[in-house]
Amino acid sequence: MPVAVPPLSQLQAPANWRTVDLISDLHLQANAPATLAAWQSYMAETTADAVLILGDLFEVWVGDDEVPASPFLQSCAQVLRGAGERLYLGLMHGNRDFLMGPAFVHSCHAHGLQDPTLLTLGNTSWLLSHGDALCTEDIEYQAFRQQVRSPGWIQHFTSKPLAERQALARGLRAESEARKSIAASYADADAAACLAWLAPTPSRQLIHGHTHQPASHLLSAAGPQQMERIVLSDWDMQATPPRAQVLQLNASGHHQRINLS
Ligand code: MN
Repeated sequence: MPVAVPPLSQLQAPANWRTVDLISDLHLQANAPATLAAWQSYMAETTADAVLILGDLFEVWVGDDEVPASPFLQSCAQVLRGAGERLYLGLMHGNRDFLMGPAFVHSCHAHGLQDPTLLTLGNTSWLLSHGDALCTEDIEYQAFRQQVRSPGWIQHFTSKPLAERQALARGLRAESEARKSIAASYADADAAACLAWLAPTPSRQLIHGHTHQPASHLLSAAGPQQMERIVLSDWDMQATPPRAQVLQLNASGHHQRINLS
């Protein structure tokens, strides 16, 4: 399958930024209060200059109009707003919450991040993505993705009443869970796709979430010019052991994983 290289957006860190925190795949939902609480504390306490959320902050998002109707979403919005007022807050769409609209992002004092975004901090650049578009081996999913990201589908879906959208989303999630339980292994980010995305950029490290398989993978021969794929962890404070991890980048070009759980 030929690899589509999407247009590149850039985020240039101001000279005074020392650290940038990356998180993704919190899958926040009303029935996972422990994960919400961990995220709430983290967002209030982090000393990073920026928090970039690389998609799937929410388990599901059927439209910004659900926020006023949901005390849970209002709590989440308040956490985002509190952070957005004191640091640079970037929000990238994931496959679960890609319908999060610019009005909601703006109301949280956050900045929408395109997928992918090239972040430059100090002398180092990192290519940031949610990661689902890189799982090119899952042809069925890529076809679904193309369909639901099309303006026509989005227009059609968002014109439905809120209750109908909530019911449709529940159906889609049940279907995706059923599919996962029969598949032997999940599609992972494709190495050739990662290299194709990195090629036109000055970056040698692609960072993504989505797969919930935190690790670092070499994409080329080891050495000073090596290309690397760094995968973020998901968050789940009800799991054993609980998971809540931040990938922190610093202006010297290094990164470290910080476990909050
Ligand atoms: Mn995802």
